[in-house]
Amino acid sequence: MSLGDKKRERGHDAMSSTKDIGPQILLAHGAGGELSRQLVENIFFKYFNNETLKPLADAAVLDFPGCRLAFTTDSFVVRPLFFPGGDIGKLAVCGTVNDLAVSGAKPLFLTASFIIEEGLPLSVLEQVTRSLGETCQTAGVKVVAGDTKVVEKGHGDLIFINTAGIGLIPANLDLGQHRLAPGDLVIVNGPMGNHGLAVLLERENLGLESGVTSDCAPLNEIIAKILEKVPGIKMMRDLTRGGLATAVKEIALGAGVDIWLDEPSIPVDDEVRGALGILGLEPLYMANEGKFVVFAAPEDAPMVIDIMANDSLGGQAAIIGEVTKGRGNVLLKTMLGGTQVLDLLAGDPLPRIC
Ligand code: MG
Repeated sequence: MSLGDKKRERGHDAMSSTKDIGPQILLAHGAGGELSRQLVENIFFKYFNNETLKPLADAAVLDFPGCRLAFTTDSFVVRPLFFPGGDIGKLAVCGTVNDLAVSGAKPLFLTASFIIEEGLPLSVLEQVTRSLGETCQTAGVKVVAGDTKVVEKGHGDLIFINTAGIGLIPANLDLGQHRLAPGDLVIVNGPMGNHGLAVLLERENLGLESGVTSDCAPLNEIIAKILEKVPGIKMMRDLTRGGLATAVKEIALGAGVDIWLDEPSIPVDDEVRGALGILGLEPLYMANEGKFVVFAAPEDAPMVIDIMANDSLGGQAAIIGEVTKGRGNVLLKTMLGGTQVLDLLAGDPLPRIC
């Protein structure tokens, strides 16, 4: 069986196999997987096409005389607003700060825009805003501009937040998928799937007691330590919507390489694996909000692991795979010793988790 024939094994279903994006928006168009990619390619690229946007990186890299900036934006629609380990305010900072950090930037300034539904208790707005402010302090960034809109009751869902962020990239830093080479190792800073599961269990009354909390955290400090000591790393990406599998697949496609992942080496907490198994969900496709992947040459990997393991956000860091020559395939050596092809996330098993 060729790779193409086997392609539907994980991450794909019939709906996502079409290039026709259909007559109307589905929840899955916002899931960060195959349909999101089609939306970007078929609609947004048609009107926004430019060289800066094209790489579809976590942040745009803007070159000015004497300075390089990373610039990004993200909207937050998580339901419920509060969940174990975080809330929409904390997420709104972490999501944008982490996109800047994995681009190699020192995050500096954010904007915060609130779209609020009429009737929202002021105490809820204050709780969310306090959390947003406290997370800014932790991350060392400032909200320097913002906006507030209110929509009629029934025309929103309590509160949506958009943040944009800007950061400074060191002049000599070169990160990106163009630098990947066969032999590079794939490293993650900890277990997969906790955020998605924590939000799901808080939202749905499934009768599952897990004690799982979201991993939501600003990653700029741990990333700064890595860049300081191992400036030669190849690239990074945060593992949000679509999870590890989707992020690695996008990178493999973009870089024109194959990436092998070793399932037994990928950290997943026992309670997360157990609960996801019951729900028929896969940890490699679950969203994280405090996890990132680093690609590094084999000689740099031990130092990356060492830095991660000595940081509170990297205690279970692991080398989980390797880059090989190829054409965009992601192959998983499974627990049982088989090989599975991983594709972009299909459909949306879990809408509105960030
Ligand atoms: Mg990202």
